[in-house]
Amino acid sequence: MSQVDGMRLTVLVDDFKNQLQSELAAKHGLSFFIELKAGGHTTNLLMDTGPSADIVMQNAQKLGIELRKVDSIVLSHGHYDHTGGLLGILKHIGRKVPVIAHPGALEPKFVMKKKRLKKAGIPFQASELKKSGGILILKRGQTSIMPGVLVSGEIKRTSQLERVKGFKTTKGGKLVDDHMIDDQALFVTVRSKGSVIITGCAHAGLINTIKQAQKATGSKRVHAVIGGFHLANASAKRIGATVGELQRAGVKAIMPCHCTGEKAIAKFIEVFGEKCRQLRTGDVVSL
Ligand SMILES: [Zn+2]
Ligand SMILES: [Zn+2]
Repeated sequence: MSQVDGMRLTVLVDDFKNQLQSELAAKHGLSFFIELKAGGHTTNLLMDTGPSADIVMQNAQKLGIELRKVDSIVLSHGHYDHTGGLLGILKHIGRKVPVIAHPGALEPKFVMKKKRLKKAGIPFQASELKKSGGILILKRGQTSIMPGVLVSGEIKRTSQLERVKGFKTTKGGKLVDDHMIDDQALFVTVRSKGSVIITGCAHAGLINTIKQAQKATGSKRVHAVIGGFHLANASAKRIGATVGELQRAGVKAIMPCHCTGEKAIAKFIEVFGEKCRQLRTGDVVSL
């Protein structure tokens, strides 16, 4: 069975921080440093790079994390709050590092805010990333990083409730709705625990992402879900359906952060009690 012996995830940046972590900086965005242990060896993954490199690098230093040890970088999707730090972090690492993303992550991205169009995409060209040491691995399908660790690739959209709204892209010079097909998650199978799903914003929908993980790992049970679940503007019906899916999957730990939204987090705490723990900048999860 493909699995890792353990994993340790550190939140390098999130929208919020704990009062105890006053020396750290919080900002809208997300970056996880993930240490994967297998056969006495540790592989270090960086999932997303926050809105800017300086904030991620300063927090990492204060948390005692050596970013130069990053073996690969995974981009959950192309939004700036997950990719803005990429160029600076690659320069800091100073050697060639694989950067795994869906090809759609590099497409132009916009968001409608107060009826105005705002740029929301990755703020660099592919050529700049390559020059800074990034080996771009652009794949629509799933990618195996090591036994027990999968990057989902494109997530099948089946849930009627999980419609992507408010994002735009361009096609043939025209502004069109962006369905965020580049959105992907990380699936880690941990020994004696089970599947762990790590999302960036879960633009594809958490229900859809759980179903994809179940198919990809061959296991119906999910041990933990960690990440931004993008439910801030979700209806009570959608939040309820998400709760139902988490229950069906037997999830033991729900760790929302970033764009999940207060309403959904309150519901998770109401239903799951101590199984739900909101993650903030500087928090560490060991599984
Ligand atoms: Zn996003
Ligand atoms: Zn985001």
